[in-house]
Amino acid sequence: MNDFIDEKQEMYQALGIGREVYQFCENVWEGLKSRFERIDETAEYNQLKVIRAMQENRVSEACLYSSSGYGYNDLGRDTLEAVYASAFHTEDALVRPQIACGTHALAVALAGNLRPGDELFSPVGKPYDTLEEVIGIRPSNGSLAEYGITYRQVDLLADGSFDYENIKKAINEKTKLVTIQRSKGYQTRPTLSVKRIQELIAFIKDIKPDVICMVDNCYGEFVEKLEPTDVGADLMVGSLIKNPGGGLAPIGGYIVGKKEYVENAAFRLTSPGLGKEVGATLGVNQSFYQGFFLAPTVVAGALKGAIFAANIYEKLGFSVIPNGSESRHDIIQAVEFGNPESVIAFCKGIQAAAPVDSYVDPEPWDMPGYDSDVIMAAGAFVQGSSIELSADGPIKPPYAVYFQGGLTWEHAKFGIMMSLQKLQEKGLVSL
Ligand SMILES: *Cc1c(COP(=O)(O)O)cnc(C)c1O
Repeated sequence: MNDFIDEKQEMYQALGIGREVYQFCENVWEGLKSRFERIDETAEYNQLKVIRAMQENRVSEACLYSSSGYGYNDLGRDTLEAVYASAFHTEDALVRPQIACGTHALAVALAGNLRPGDELFSPVGKPYDTLEEVIGIRPSNGSLAEYGITYRQVDLLADGSFDYENIKKAINEKTKLVTIQRSKGYQTRPTLSVKRIQELIAFIKDIKPDVICMVDNCYGEFVEKLEPTDVGADLMVGSLIKNPGGGLAPIGGYIVGKKEYVENAAFRLTSPGLGKEVGATLGVNQSFYQGFFLAPTVVAGALKGAIFAANIYEKLGFSVIPNGSESRHDIIQAVEFGNPESVIAFCKGIQAAAPVDSYVDPEPWDMPGYDSDVIMAAGAFVQGSSIELSADGPIKPPYAVYFQGGLTWEHAKFGIMMSLQKLQEKGLVSL
């Protein structure tokens, strides 16, 4: 046993982790083991859920092959969509490499199901930044607003609860689709549990039964045993370079839900009349299947990393969101450092622990679309993949870093240890 520990510590030392950081982190990890067992329980359940969906739909070797051109009769694509529909308990699914990212998937679901004169409603406050231009909250060419689709929003109350009174007032005869973002994204509101989403949908359907309830499920898949589609969501949307791609999908997005709404989205993604019938898979089928198969355990590793980081930095006196002990409904972790040097050191540590581009030294820069300099750390196999260990920090108060991912718990742990090592070397923390 002792030998094993020494070997491990030696290996960490060779990678630049000093004795103090090692011991501090090992102690925190010791205290988390029973919590990690519960995460493994969820992963086990979700692993079986995915295997069952694959078996029920008779996934075969032929499904792993490729199509080109129009992609008519792509067995792998059509079966994969049936697998997603089974796993998420929906009537239908659209899972495509032609969906460029999460924003695109959401834009397709919205534009496919809304018509001029309809109103879109968010009862959980402002949606993810990139959706502002899709909706037209920030004017943009081609936005829903340009097509005569109006938008209304009700913010969460100060304590994070739903503002039921104003939600009721906001729903009117034009309200066609309600968009509910599960993850807090880069805001400070709490992430919604599946149970809270259930309560919200029930309330809304009670007022207007035929309204379409859509959930932006980005970063939420497989964190719990149930998904929003198990509790009343008519549509659920996400990105394959986040949780459900399992780190292997090189591109893509998904839209699952009621058949009519998924079909409407497909007519928008490809073309009216063509819908789901076209769209070649160009060799991605195998990585889509294999990534979905791995996703439950990959998400478990990312969750453990987020909880580990929360506990490390909480113990050092920083404000962490979510905190070290609260329950989790997505894989994002925020740490407020209060000064730019710590944000930079943290991100340099995450980068230094990466399997790809570990020698690159990230610096803050004036990224388009942001109102301050931003530093980003990523050493990913897939560009921009945020199921892989990644972090970014806007260089402005409260000087917080947001980080997520880790294809394995072991890598997430090493990345967080390296972030602490960099902070310690700069004299920004004392252990
Ligand atoms: C990531 C994300 C999106 C979409 O982002 P893309 O970068 O376009 O994939 C939308 N909503 C939430 C909550 C997200 O986390």
